[in-house]
Amino acid sequence: MDIHEYQAKELLARHGVNLPRGGLAYSPEQAAYRASEIGGERWAVKAQIHSGARGKAGGVKLCDSDKAVKQAAEEMLGKRLVTHQTGPEGKLVNRLYIEETVDIAQELYLGFVLDRKAERIMIIASSSGGMEVEEIADKEPESLIKTVVDPGHGLQEFQAREIAYNLGLEYKVVNRMVDTILGCYRAFRDYDGSMLEINPLVITGGGSVMALDAKMSFDENALFRRQEISELRDKSQEDPRETFASDRGLSYVGLNGEIGCIINGAGLAMATLDMIKIAGGEPANFLDIGGGASPDRVAKSFRAVLQDENVKVIFVNIFAGINRCDWVAEGVIKAKKEVGVSLPIIVRLAGTNVEKGKQILADSGEDIIVADTLKEGAEKAVKAWKDAGGTKAAA
Ligand code: GDP
Ligand code: MN
Repeated sequence: MDIHEYQAKELLARHGVNLPRGGLAYSPEQAAYRASEIGGERWAVKAQIHSGARGKAGGVKLCDSDKAVKQAAEEMLGKRLVTHQTGPEGKLVNRLYIEETVDIAQELYLGFVLDRKAERIMIIASSSGGMEVEEIADKEPESLIKTVVDPGHGLQEFQAREIAYNLGLEYKVVNRMVDTILGCYRAFRDYDGSMLEINPLVITGGGSVMALDAKMSFDENALFRRQEISELRDKSQEDPRETFASDRGLSYVGLNGEIGCIINGAGLAMATLDMIKIAGGEPANFLDIGGGASPDRVAKSFRAVLQDENVKVIFVNIFAGINRCDWVAEGVIKAKKEVGVSLPIIVRLAGTNVEKGKQILADSGEDIIVADTLKEGAEKAVKAWKDAGGTKAAA
């Protein structure tokens, strides 16, 4: 789960990380008021969306008067901001963060991620802040400082000091940098972070260390024990199709095609998406219905797939191990009747109780296209999609 910059900054402030003064605004008037509250002569007006690269997309504006702040706020609020991370639909800007500007002497990069393979926390730092880390890795790979932290021991002060020295900082700044790195680490660890990125982390003209930006994501599997973090969720920043599915415990990823998919098992789901593409179609989603899917859960999956208005046909592909084909078949009929699915449905069943499942489909008298293999199912789904007027090319 992602959170906004101002929320991440609030968490960092609790751990002693130094930040510019700022305030939240929901309207242009409030933005100007915040600027006068903060004081000074120059402010940054920052769109709060779940994306980086806002600066290049016009989502960060430096303003010299409260009039300019108001105008910048008017331009940003209520619009969808498209950055190179959001996709073409962009993300809705419904709040702004107004911040004092600071005198930047140097921009650095500081990131925390989980290295799943090493089962360790990895800290990445670079003296080339401002750019994105991919860009730094590409253009100045030698500037990347990587430190591995054993979560059992935690980040040791000597490790933070080593990072600070490797960044080539002046002696008087080193201690402040050590405190910043340790503070960020505590925030990352205490809230079950999966990613924390401070870019840029700046050294001011006066020698302070300040986080000018902050991006933070959390491990969704740990949210049950982090009530205050789960409360920071902003559904307006999520794909509504994915929100609908995740609220119902379904594993769903929205895609750009028109063939809706209901599949059990992530591996079979990936294989099915490939087969649809090979057959000349484009999947609308990835949906793993999971093991032991009751008829009710199958019906829920239909609802989730139908959240996507682009869907023209639905392909149900089940290889039942723990699942039971008869339950899935019952679920398909239930969905047709209760959810009122009028789109063509292609069903491929294999495994536990397959004969019983097929019988239920045949006895229902409903118009359902049946297939015996994955390949046949994918081909029939693509054919039904084309017959339904499907033309959408791969996005
Ligand atoms: P991002 O583009 O989404 O990563 O947003 P950032 O918060 O990183 O802002 C983009 C850029 O705006 C930063 O890299 C800074 O160069 C600039 N910026 C942000 N705040 C200030 C500030 O207080 N003073 C100055 N001079 N520049 C700022
Ligand atoms: Mn940034």
